[in-house]
Amino acid sequence: MTIAQHKVVTIHYKVSDSDSDELIDSSENGEPMTYLHGAQNIIPGLEQALEGKSTGDELEVTIPPAEAYGERSEDRIQQVPREAFQEMDKVEPGMAVTAQTEQGQINLVITEVEGELVTVDANHPLAGKSLKFSVTVEEVRDASDEEKAHGHVHGPGGHDHD
Ligand code: ZN
Repeated sequence: MTIAQHKVVTIHYKVSDSDSDELIDSSENGEPMTYLHGAQNIIPGLEQALEGKSTGDELEVTIPPAEAYGERSEDRIQQVPREAFQEMDKVEPGMAVTAQTEQGQINLVITEVEGELVTVDANHPLAGKSLKFSVTVEEVRDASDEEKAHGHVHGPGGHDHD
């Protein structure tokens, strides 16, 4: 079966930073990843590269930041008063925190603490990186009507609604 809109696709993958060759993530020693094609479940560049591929196909693709997790933006780096973190025992660079905003919950990383000012970065950790993917297509099946309606996969590797 060929990968197209509304197919449920199972892949094994390995992804590394294409500049440094540093391994970022791999499914090799774990469960493969299952996603609903055409529903923006995965980064656009990888979805595009998989379009038209079939079970057993292997591909290697380098995806620029714009088609992956986006460019890094200085606008997403902000300084906030330390008192915003008063519920935390300590506030140190490298710590990941979540914040409630008008747009919902966002993930931040504390990058600097200077006196009463804390610098937080809301860029995705992989923003600005070109990613090199090695992918093997394990399985392709039709999505159920319910999966299409929900925009994600149910069952093994997918959402569990109980
Ligand atoms: Zn669902």
